[in-house]
Amino acid sequence: MPAAYNELLDATIRHLEDLKSRGARNVVVTKETLRALAQPPLKSQIQNSQPRIQPVATPAKIEKPISTPAKQSAPEKTLAFGELQKRALSCVKCPHLASSRKNVVFGVGSVDAQLMFVGEAPGADEDAQGEPFVGAAGQLLTKIISATGLSRADVYIANILKCRPDTPGQLSGNRKPTPDEMKTCIPYLHEQIDLIKPKVIVALGATAVEGLLGKTVGITKLRGNWQTYRGTPLMPTYHPAYLLRNQAMSEKRRVWEDMLAVMEKLEMPVSEKQRNYFLK
Ligand code: URA
Repeated sequence: MPAAYNELLDATIRHLEDLKSRGARNVVVTKETLRALAQPPLKSQIQNSQPRIQPVATPAKIEKPISTPAKQSAPEKTLAFGELQKRALSCVKCPHLASSRKNVVFGVGSVDAQLMFVGEAPGADEDAQGEPFVGAAGQLLTKIISATGLSRADVYIANILKCRPDTPGQLSGNRKPTPDEMKTCIPYLHEQIDLIKPKVIVALGATAVEGLLGKTVGITKLRGNWQTYRGTPLMPTYHPAYLLRNQAMSEKRRVWEDMLAVMEKLEMPVSEKQRNYFLK
């Protein structure tokens, strides 16, 4: 066998052994690959030295349009994400929150998402359903996401805090997470971001910015200005709950301008209609 073919074979075996040692028990192989593997290698394949098995260890890096996320993530990524979720779901690091919560609200969306939204903390609806941004503010966030041409399934949505901040003695209402609660919970979000590796993060409101960047500058000053979270571009914008309280067209337009900047950063197509949303 030519040296190039043997090198390719060795590299493939090493790759599979590496995956196995990290817990993977299967790899994604297309029908075409299986058919090709059953054939003797062609000269052109040998010279090309292209691996025939899909590089399941690095699917997040695949060049794909933002609206068509990979159908299947790398087994090791799925495993790690599942393991992280399991840990978060049984977390009791904040005993007062663990005893008051109905659900841990871990996050929702695609683990291969290029775009990630981070909010503050679950409210009553999110606590009841175990999913972030499903209440009134969540429905507005869903509309904002749809206006970009994406769906909730294309992106990933999470919060700084995974449990609803308790409000003892109150029947309704929300409160901002305390610095201690944020410090305790934030490692889960860091791990989620490390696994997802989004190309862009949108921080919804001041608490999300504070949790991710440690900045307590007002959101009015920060919004619309690109920041960096551990090397990843981060766009601070208003929390959708703010837009529900302040119905001014000018504020809606500001959030939309932030989303247009995000779409451009992701090299998403922007139509003339999209560009003109919320302009008089
Ligand atoms: N507000 C947030 O910040 N997060 C949610 O999940 C819901 C409302």
